[in-house]
Amino acid sequence: MTTPQKYTIAFHAKQDVAVRTELFLFEKPAGFTFIPGQFATLRIPSIATHGTVADATRAFSFASAPSDEMIAFAWRQSESAFKQTMDTLTPGDTVEMIAPAGRAILPPDGAVIFLIGGIGITPVRSILREMRATGQKRDMTLFYSNRTPQDAPFFDEISSYDDLCKIVHTMTGAVENWDGETGYITADVIRRHAPYYKNATYYVVGTSGFVHAMTDVVATFGITHEKIISDNFG
Ligand SMILES: Cc1cc2nc3c(=O)[nH]c(=O)nc-3n(C[C@H](O)[C@H](O)[C@H](O)COP(=O)(O)OP(=O)(O)OC[C@H]3O[C@@H](n4cnc5c(N)ncnc54)[C@H](O)[C@@H]3O)c2cc1C
Repeated sequence: MTTPQKYTIAFHAKQDVAVRTELFLFEKPAGFTFIPGQFATLRIPSIATHGTVADATRAFSFASAPSDEMIAFAWRQSESAFKQTMDTLTPGDTVEMIAPAGRAILPPDGAVIFLIGGIGITPVRSILREMRATGQKRDMTLFYSNRTPQDAPFFDEISSYDDLCKIVHTMTGAVENWDGETGYITADVIRRHAPYYKNATYYVVGTSGFVHAMTDVVATFGITHEKIISDNFG
């Protein structure tokens, strides 16, 4: 695995991808690559000079695929100095990136079940985009939990990967005319949609509450620790 290195990356553009959620695109440094599922630590030098390390840095999974022309990260907007400063970037402005890091990487083969809450979709978007670009296929089911479709980052794009991966959206809020799954992801929902639920690798990403709840569900299937890959977004 490549050792993380420090890069200066130039902001290119941003796009809305859900309610209060944006995708930030940056120019890719020459020769830089990563494995889908890895993350970067971004640092804003101007905050670092008058704030704390915690104010100036955040970890973000790559939301883009290695084969994409740009690198991309997505996050929910917040009042933090870090995100407020990111919102003021104009094309050509730079930030620091220390990357690639992280071991939330799929094993080379076998069935995969993704259990994803909200913005936890970023590494899965990277994985699915790369599989689409390189023509890879395997048994995969994505359970994607959000309050409403408008709150679901990349709702349309993720839905469009249904030839690559079975997509099971589940909405925890009230949604008019929704005929898909509702409520939290449960053992019953997983069993109904993913016949290989007893011998898949589980890939779990979201808030700590979500990751802990899903790990408990998966434990009821007798899945051992080595078959669970997780990223806890806090
Ligand atoms: C491997 C990994 C990948 C992640 N990927 C994503 C992603 O793709 N999208 C996404 O939205 N979020 C991601 N996160 C979470 C992200 O790093 C932020 O914590 C989150 O977005 C909240 O940031 P905020 O500025 O809105 O929150 P705040 O409410 O300001 O931060 C929450 C608290 O965490 C502290 N904190 C946050 N980051 C750091 C840091 N790097 N060092 C020290 N303290 C810190 C803050 O000081 C504060 O106390 C990821 C986290 C990890 C560990």
